[in-house]
Amino acid sequence: MDSLPVSQKVKVTAIAGDGIGAEVMRATQQVLAAAGAAVEWEDALAGAEAFRKGIVTGAPQETLDSIERCGVALKGPLETPVGFGEKSANVTLRKIFEMYGNIRPVRELPGIRTPFSGRGIDFTVVRENVEDLYAGIEHMQTPGVAQAVKLISEAGCERIAELACALALAEGRGKVTVATKANILKQTEGLLKTVGERVVKQYPQLAHEHMIVDNCAHQMVIRPEQFDVCVMTNMNGDILSDLAAGLVGGLGVAPSANLGDSVAMFEAVHGSAPQIAGKNLANPTALLLSAVMMLRHVGQFAAAARVEHALYVTLEEGRDLTGDIAAPGTGVGTTAYVDRVIANLGRESAKVPARQYRPITMKAWPKANWCRPTTSRELVGVDIFLESASAPPALGASLQQAVAGSPFTLKLVSSRGAQVWPVAQPHTFLVDHFRARFMFSAPAQGEAQAEITDLLNRVGAQHRWMHVEKLQRFDGADAFTKDQGEG
Ligand code: NAD
Repeated sequence: MDSLPVSQKVKVTAIAGDGIGAEVMRATQQVLAAAGAAVEWEDALAGAEAFRKGIVTGAPQETLDSIERCGVALKGPLETPVGFGEKSANVTLRKIFEMYGNIRPVRELPGIRTPFSGRGIDFTVVRENVEDLYAGIEHMQTPGVAQAVKLISEAGCERIAELACALALAEGRGKVTVATKANILKQTEGLLKTVGERVVKQYPQLAHEHMIVDNCAHQMVIRPEQFDVCVMTNMNGDILSDLAAGLVGGLGVAPSANLGDSVAMFEAVHGSAPQIAGKNLANPTALLLSAVMMLRHVGQFAAAARVEHALYVTLEEGRDLTGDIAAPGTGVGTTAYVDRVIANLGRESAKVPARQYRPITMKAWPKANWCRPTTSRELVGVDIFLESASAPPALGASLQQAVAGSPFTLKLVSSRGAQVWPVAQPHTFLVDHFRARFMFSAPAQGEAQAEITDLLNRVGAQHRWMHVEKLQRFDGADAFTKDQGEG
């Protein structure tokens, strides 16, 4: 077993969090101490209490300082208001420390009966953690139409694909599945498909495949044992990793890690379970398994295996389990479950799949702005998003008239992606939100600031516009998608 002198103990920020957080954190710390893990905890605050104190990030500066200093954190669940109020403190912490990789192992646990038991499910979802719709850039564009911006960078795709490969190699896995919605979102999801496949091909020891993400959801339920490592954009990964957790026993037993270049934060996938908080009913398994991942991250492989085996033996024997996973009528409290796990330390489960864990070798990324070089760029047009109650024929005519005599021609008008001018479909449901696509009649010079300003003035004289997007071509390829039916 790893036994480090006190002076070499690893300092870890412990954020108990909200609801059941205090109970599952206490339980985890007790098991780690009994297992001889060389950890020194720095308790820190985040979540509801921080919000109540008026700290809008949900994490006080002392907490951020502690995470910065330790570089490793174990975190309980943090409450987030749904649909209103402050941003999620979880997402904020991931962003502040650029923890770009969310790792969620999905492994069948002994003793936890599910409809999938016996299938040998054992894979890991690697979810991009800081980009995509979770940038949280949203606007009501009109009083009745909302927009969220889905931002995906090539560098972000490269980082997460490299991490998926590094994890696969560290765990001795053989295949990486890149799952995207590139068939519909050709630019954003398409970037992960292109870059992900490019990265994985650089590792000849790893097999690779691309799968459309909705089929991936289907395949995870139909034949989950086919997966090894799956890499996805943020929102897809969020949803599919919860689905995957459901295959092996649910959120109460699902661990996760958030990895960045200099900070790693480990947490259970579940939330604060306010209905059972303070009642000694919470299952600490998910946080314990997250702590096992943490111990491996800091190189304490023997202590990690000791905790993992004790947990597995406890689950296998089925004695003293918490109510959510126990046989009906046999559930015990959190504290009794922890006592049982501690009593089982030193015992070995025959069912823990043999795996040679090695430290994940994460690629170092430059701190300077990442900019993709281009050999050519052209400006071919402008999309203007505008609010209007006009019928499309009248709107099209008015926009055509507005640009008469300018360097632009109106190519089309669409409503939420469906063309309504010059061609319209009788079934299209209209709201007050339109996109007008103007193309330069002759090649634009440079950034065409004056022409675009003039275009906005012309359109703005008659319509309320709220958003402008340049239509560009990089290295000869369109850097925008076409509308349905657009030639
Ligand atoms: P939840 O995970 O808290 O609860 C879902 C269900 O699972 C409930 O029935 C709950 O009792 C049960 N459950 C969850 N963890 C359990 C455990 N360890 N032992 C036994 N049963 C458990 O999800 P929710 O109700 O949607 O969210 C509650 C709050 O938690 C919300 O404020 C949400 O924003 C927050 N949340 C935080 C995180 C996080 O910090 N990473 C994740 C998810 C939700």
